[in-house]
Amino acid sequence: EVRVRFAPSPTGPLHIGGVRTALYNYLLARKLGGKMLLRIEDTDQNRFVPGAEQYIMDALRWCGIEIDEGIEQGGPHAPYRQSERKPMYRQYADQLITDGYAYYAFDTPEELDAMRARLTAAKVPNPQYNSITRAQMRNSLTLPAEEVAQLLADNIPYVIRLKVPRKEEVRFQDLIRGWVVVHSSAIDDKVLMKSDGMPTYHLANIVDDHLMEITHVIRGEEWLPSAPLHVLLYRYLGWESTMPQFAHLPLLLKPDGTGKLSKRDGDKLGFPVFPLEFHGTDAQTGEPTVSSGYREAGYLPDAFINFLAFLGWNPGTTQELFTMEELIENFSIERVSKSPARFDQNKVRWFNEQYLRAKPDAELARYLMDDLTAQGLTVDAAKAEQIAALVKERATFPADLAREAQLFFQRPSNYDEQVISKKWNPQVAAALTEFADQLPTLNDASPEGIKARLTEVLEAQGVKIGQVLQALRVAVTGQAAGPDLMHIMHILGAQETAARIKAAVA
Ligand code: GLU
Repeated sequence: EVRVRFAPSPTGPLHIGGVRTALYNYLLARKLGGKMLLRIEDTDQNRFVPGAEQYIMDALRWCGIEIDEGIEQGGPHAPYRQSERKPMYRQYADQLITDGYAYYAFDTPEELDAMRARLTAAKVPNPQYNSITRAQMRNSLTLPAEEVAQLLADNIPYVIRLKVPRKEEVRFQDLIRGWVVVHSSAIDDKVLMKSDGMPTYHLANIVDDHLMEITHVIRGEEWLPSAPLHVLLYRYLGWESTMPQFAHLPLLLKPDGTGKLSKRDGDKLGFPVFPLEFHGTDAQTGEPTVSSGYREAGYLPDAFINFLAFLGWNPGTTQELFTMEELIENFSIERVSKSPARFDQNKVRWFNEQYLRAKPDAELARYLMDDLTAQGLTVDAAKAEQIAALVKERATFPADLAREAQLFFQRPSNYDEQVISKKWNPQVAAALTEFADQLPTLNDASPEGIKARLTEVLEAQGVKIGQVLQALRVAVTGQAAGPDLMHIMHILGAQETAARIKAAVA
């Protein structure tokens, strides 16, 4: 059985990169009939942000990403929050020590600083606690056994570090990148267990992926450098034969391609990077902060998901619009790209337009009525549906419908200057007056009926329709552009249209 997990740390709101990771995990799980887990990786208590965990779950729900096992759903491997699993990790750290793959390190923060200073002074490029430098430090590899026993008996604080070999090639096959080979000299002796008995991310992540029987680890490229370390951990814990397959997703770049899209970019670049609005506090000043979200900006979850799916994946055809069901059907890790994906704010708007305009008019009418009601305007359902059907071609977000609908509720207070100066003349005014006079007598006030009468009147007046149309639009709406004019006049009705034309002529 395929089992995948989304394993966020609740260090802040989930940004679109995180949602994409969750989405690809979900698509693979559903496609292969497997299970999707949500595991909260909260072992780093210093970075814990209140509300982040709830935010993550709310955001996934809004996106339609369903979790099979997790902190809300429970499941056979509960608990799914690492802080609640704390007692489970110790034995694996102990096992690694017993088997000679890990060791106690008693170095104080001052000693560690001194080591780094020494190495920096000696121009060592990347000062690390590793297979070479560990020889000069106070750990269970360098100290006599009796001294180690005494330090432990005296409860002297220590961490447990992984003993990374000095010269070894660590290799694994990434489903997206192919073979990844890293020399162990590039890996430091990572802390597995902190002095407070909390496991670090690396230990907890591997232990949990093993215990939770994860088959595929799909995560962002920023975790690629950790993967060789994880491979070593699987090996040393004796779990190599059931090691999950890795797939590291491509980076997301800023719209201009100049580097990684970060959590801070959104409000700076003028588009949301979070699915939902997030209310937090500024770490420095303690002031309340609000980060904008796709939901509040008027994006539809289906459009947002469709857009995200394409940030790093493509179906290999020209089809762009995919429901979640279709994404599940078509998704494959093989079609995920190695190269970075550039965020495109015009594209996400385009997706939203497609999804908004594809909705039934009755549903659009409900958005419209809600917004108009909030503005104190009344409109019946049938009329709202007519208006929605007409203005939706000009809408990107649901709120645009009410904005575009304003012309039906307000007579123009001013008229487009350019059109007036170019198109308005006594002959046009006379023709429009005649049309306005005839409007109330119209039997057929459909858009076609209105058009027929307009054509008739203009013919009789010896004016071409092309000379009048823009002037008529400005007379009725005040604006130079807008949705189909015959439909506007039809929805306004003959009386109102006539009144507006007369007001403009006067
Ligand atoms: N807790 C890690 C994160 O915040 C999980 C990385 C992984 O999937 O292994 O992204």
